[in-house]
Amino acid sequence: MRYVSTRGLAPKLGFDDVLLAGLATDGGLYVPAAWPTFGESEMAAMEGLDYSSVAARVMAPYVVGSVLEKDLSALAEEAYALFTHKAVAPLTPLAANHWLVELFHGPTLAFKDYALQAVGLMFDRVLHAKGHRITIVGATSGDTGSAAIEACKNKDAVDIFILHPAGRTSEVQRRQMTTVEAKNVHNIEVTGTFDDCQNLVKAMFADEGFRRQMNLSAVNSINWARIMAQVVYYFWAAVQVGAPYRQVAFSVPTGNFGNVFAGRVAAHMGLPVSQFIVGSNRNDVLTRYFETGAMTMEGVVPTLSPSMDIQISSNFERLLFGALGQDGDAVAHLLKQLQQNRTYTVPHAAHADILRYFTGHRLDDAGTARVIRDIYAETGYLIDPHTAVGVHAARASQIDSAIPLLTMATAHPAKFPDAVEMATGVRPAFPSSLKDLFSRTERFTTLDTDLDTIKAFVRENVRK
Ligand SMILES: *Cc1c(COP(=O)(O)O)cnc(C)c1O
Repeated sequence: MRYVSTRGLAPKLGFDDVLLAGLATDGGLYVPAAWPTFGESEMAAMEGLDYSSVAARVMAPYVVGSVLEKDLSALAEEAYALFTHKAVAPLTPLAANHWLVELFHGPTLAFKDYALQAVGLMFDRVLHAKGHRITIVGATSGDTGSAAIEACKNKDAVDIFILHPAGRTSEVQRRQMTTVEAKNVHNIEVTGTFDDCQNLVKAMFADEGFRRQMNLSAVNSINWARIMAQVVYYFWAAVQVGAPYRQVAFSVPTGNFGNVFAGRVAAHMGLPVSQFIVGSNRNDVLTRYFETGAMTMEGVVPTLSPSMDIQISSNFERLLFGALGQDGDAVAHLLKQLQQNRTYTVPHAAHADILRYFTGHRLDDAGTARVIRDIYAETGYLIDPHTAVGVHAARASQIDSAIPLLTMATAHPAKFPDAVEMATGVRPAFPSSLKDLFSRTERFTTLDTDLDTIKAFVRENVRK
């Protein structure tokens, strides 16, 4: 399988190099040069398989030619072995013909584990085969850091350094990062803001010498391997409600567009999807785009669903590339406009193509609390604020009630206990795997907001 950049100028690469590269050298994102497809009988045969078997089948065409090709089944089994629900991603009925897909049974209680647990293993195996090592550095306001740490802990070929701003992550989020015991995991508490952390990470990547010396890498959501691993649960869920012999619809609470784009990939591969419903909080750049055809940046406001507090959805570029007939020049042109004018307008034909599959709905914090309360009153089931945004979008979309509707439940309610308690009066209990989170020992190093100090710390602590 060969991969091309959405901006058309970077070299075509195979899977292993795409995994390690992350971003393409022309600033674009890697996508497969052509979509592999499944026939009806191949999809039907996924029903009744366990999650890791579906994962191996769905990912197999993407790793042809990779060192992962031979033992992909073993990798998938290992990736999902420690998930706490035996179904890995169980479906829970919410209303007639409407289900939640619970994507919060991994180690950090949010859907990012479903990709990162597999991607951590992929990094380790590909690096071993090449005899290379990498150093992952990242900044987090709390959400992605813990999933990345859980994915990379105890991996021989990887050292990971995650910067978080002192006093500005929730205690649950901080403890999920700082209580992980592994000698290749380094938590750095920076005496500054999240923006300071991000700027420090950017500055490390911008220092060409340091970057090469340390083999710096990132595991952010622009990495193709993460999208690929997320495609799995679209097939997994859809075949349980009648696909491929009937159409299904998905509602997805969305920030960076990585999750819902993985759904679009499943549709490219043959899954019959009538509609992708995108849920946004007050940071509604996507909903505004669907309504107007213009993608326009605005400032970020904090909400009850912080993992969707974004200004721009970077993975949308992959959708754009497809809608523009894989014209990398056209994509690069639009992204340049965004950089210069904070806005671009998608050409009419491409916009119409996108609207054939996508619609968007927004929900503010008051609405989010109301949905959490209503679902609890109707069903006795607690949902987290991100999932609530998805449930609202699903209901607002008014799709044909004969079409099975699947809403992605992206986080466990106990990950956002204050919002859930505020809405319902009930404090969600931690799953047993994390019951002792508040009694575990925290380990982190506090450093000043100073590039040289941080670089020196990384240099001293990477394993040789
Ligand atoms: C990351 C995240 C999202 C947004 O997913 P994208 O792939 O960025 O669109 C939604 N909900 C939760 C809980 C998340 O952690």
